[in-house]
Amino acid sequence: MSYITRRKRERKSPTSNSHRIHKRHVELRKKAERDLPPVTMAYRSPKGGILHGWCKTELYYIGTRSAGLYAEAQFYCCFCKEQIFLPVITIHRLLVWPEPRPRLR
Ligand SMILES: [Zn+2]
Repeated sequence: MSYITRRKRERKSPTSNSHRIHKRHVELRKKAERDLPPVTMAYRSPKGGILHGWCKTELYYIGTRSAGLYAEAQFYCCFCKEQIFLPVITIHRLLVWPEPRPRLR
């Protein structure tokens, strides 16, 4: 057995210490996120787009920029004519809004 194969098996072992530390880290992160208030500045559409929290219109994606330690995704709302800067670490916490307003062109 090669060294690489052995290391891969060790990493995947559910009894290894690194696996336990990782599992503990994931549990702590989930617990910390449960205590956070819901994100209301943006929502997710049923199709997977990002909606503006105020008018529920689907946003146009402009780009992502780094802001200090975190990255921010920049969006534009054609209905309100304003830009929205959404921290990338909050995107997975967005709630789904079932009835989005159609996007203006
Ligand atoms: Zn808007």
